[in-house]
Order: sequence, then C-alpha cells, then structure tokens
Amino acid sequence: MPDTLAPAITDVVELTRALVRCESVTPREAGALELLERALKPLGFQCERMDFTQAGTDDVANLYARVGQDKFGNGKHFCFAGHSDVVPVGDLSSWTIGPFSAELSNGFLFGRGAADMKGAIAAFTEASARFLSRRGRDFGGSISLLITGDEEGPAVNGTVKMLKKLADRGEKIDACLVGEPTSSKRFGDMIKIGRRGSMTVDLTVRGIQGHVGYPERLDNPIHRLSALIEALVRAPIDAGSTHFQPTSLQFTTIDVGNKATNIAPGVVKARFNTRFNDLWTSKTLLAHLKERMERASEALGGNGTIELATEVSGESFYTAPGPLVDLVAGAIRDVTGIETELSTTGGTSDARFISQYCPVLEFGLVGETMHKVDEKSAIEDLRTLSRVYETVLDRYFAA
Ligand SMILES: [Zn+2]
Repeated sequence: MPDTLAPAITDVVELTRALVRCESVTPREAGALELLERALKPLGFQCERMDFTQAGTDDVANLYARVGQDKFGNGKHFCFAGHSDVVPVGDLSSWTIGPFSAELSNGFLFGRGAADMKGAIAAFTEASARFLSRRGRDFGGSISLLITGDEEGPAVNGTVKMLKKLADRGEKIDACLVGEPTSSKRFGDMIKIGRRGSMTVDLTVRGIQGHVGYPERLDNPIHRLSALIEALVRAPIDAGSTHFQPTSLQFTTIDVGNKATNIAPGVVKARFNTRFNDLWTSKTLLAHLKERMERASEALGGNGTIELATEVSGESFYTAPGPLVDLVAGAIRDVTGIETELSTTGGTSDARFISQYCPVLEFGLVGETMHKVDEKSAIEDLRTLSRVYETVLDRYFAA
C-alpha cells in the first residue's frame, strides 16, 4: 500500500527543506528519518531502522537503507554516510529567519542543518534516484545510506553500533563517502581524506598546601603546573607530515578555586586537548607527553605528584590517494571545473569510525555557516552536489 500521508520527495532542494523543518536537535529524530524513509522506499531501498540504547546515554534513532544486490551478491557496495541530527540553534534572537523554517532567500536555503548536513542527505537521495532511474536496480552492486541521529552528540548510539551490526551479520562496505560540509570557501574546493586524532587530558597536580609566608613548608602545585605547561607547549610536538598539519596542543582550562590570599593551594587541575596527526597514536603521543612532564617535574624537585586521565575521541586516520580519491576528485573537477584540495584539517567526524572498515572520504557543501546563526547553503550548490554524487555513483559502478 502506498503511504498517502505525505508525498515522497526526491528533489534535493525540497527534500533539504523538508528535513530542515524537522527539529532534529541531537538526540531527537523529529520525523527526519521517517521522511527520508518515505523518499527512499519507492526507489527500491530496503529501509531498516537501527535504533540503539545504552545506559547513561540518550536513545538514538538511525536509518540504514540499501538498494541493489543483497549482502550475498558479488557486486561492490558503495555507502553514503551522514547524520540527520543538528546542533542546537543557540541564541534564537540572533537568527534573522526561523532556524527550522527552511526559507529560500537570495539564492540560499536557510536553516539549521542546511549545510551540516541535511543538504547532503537530500543530495544522496536525489543522486541515487537519478542513477537508479537510468541504470535500474540491477546495476551490478549496491548503494546504501547510513544515516545516524547521533553525530553531533556523544556518537555512542549511532555510526559505531551500526557498523558493528553490519559487520556482525557479514555485510561489507567497499567504499564510503561522508557528506560533511567539507568545502571551505567555494563549493568543491576541498575534500577530506583523513582527520587528525583527538585526545583530551585531565591533569591533577598535587603539592603541599601551606601559608604563603612559609614557602619552605609548602610545595606550590601552581608553580609545578606552570613548569609542566612550559614543557608541553614550548617545543613543537612535531613538524607535521606529508598530509597532516603539525600536532596541536591547547590548554582549555586551569582550575584552582582558591579564594585565600595567604594560602598556596594543595592541588590544581587543568585540561588540555591535542589534535594529533598520523605520526602518532593516542598511546605513543601520551607516552611522549608524559615523558616531557616527568622530566619537568623532576627538574623542580619536591614531592609534587601528577595524575592523568585521558579521553580519546578518535585516532587519526587517512585514506591514501588512490582510486577512490581520484574518482571523487575527478567527479568534482568534471562537474564544477574545480581542482579540489585534499585536506585533513578541521575537527573529527564519524568518518573516524568508518575508516576502520573501508576507505572513506568526506565531501559536501560549504561549511562556513555550520553550527552558526543563519546557517545556509546556496541552492545552486545543493543541485551541484547532487550531480557530483551522481557522477561518483556512475563512475564507481561503471559497466
Ligand atoms: Zn556534520
């Protein structure tokens, strides 16, 4: 029975608008996946909701849709990956249009998620629709959409668990394109072929509390921390590698909370984050940083101690230039005339999880307004993105 509740939309602009109208701030589904399912099913996609729960985290809805050969077929499996959730609107009064109104104005589509990344999901859909209408469903392989509702949040109940579920049942992905808004200034000017890793370290430095007038009786942990900071930031960690910027280390907070003017505190806490390149793993980098701190601490003498707690949100990854990079860069060149830059800059994305299973690249809209007030995408860019994705499918499944 056809569903008569709403028409299936595959036009990239109209589908982006419909998706933007769903207020899917993480972890809310808000009808976004349902809408997408309605668009994909008539195209022949087998749609499967993969909703996950875990104690201490929000329940998350995810959608896996696949068309073409099943997992026992011999053909290649190309996956488009993305997220239907969006970040909060922030200061609503600063928006000049409703963040979920999906208004078209001056050649732009405005709204939360227009760039990051509902526009790309709509482009996956339109590109697949056009490809399938020309090639039919027996094109010798399969196309899937792996869409999570948990990318902007903790990313616990989304892509990681979806990939594991697919692997557990023997479903293999051969190549993946993530639709994050990787274009920098102009549509098509940048794709991401990898990302730096990210590790946050909490430092607790203990000394001996005491009266400031009797320095011989105390061991000031603030002074010790300042030596540690010097040791960590003075010399560069590395000079970068062929495809990556130098590793960066930034302190984000120092907390003492001491209100007294005549007491040196007994403990000080601080936190830093590192974005590290492919010269390191989180383990080797941590060992290196520990060594720097221990040397600095020893030079100070005294009885102070350092405790570390680390959280790794992703290792660095990198898809070497080769057939997949050439295919995507070539599609961008032929559709837009732009020679795209192969980059590994910026924050992390779910591509870090996908990279453990198959070659993965990221390409999408201009990211300049993502997470900001008045997020927008050029309408023309949405249409061009859909043509680039379609060209990628054509070439990937070239007869
Ligand atoms: Zn995103």
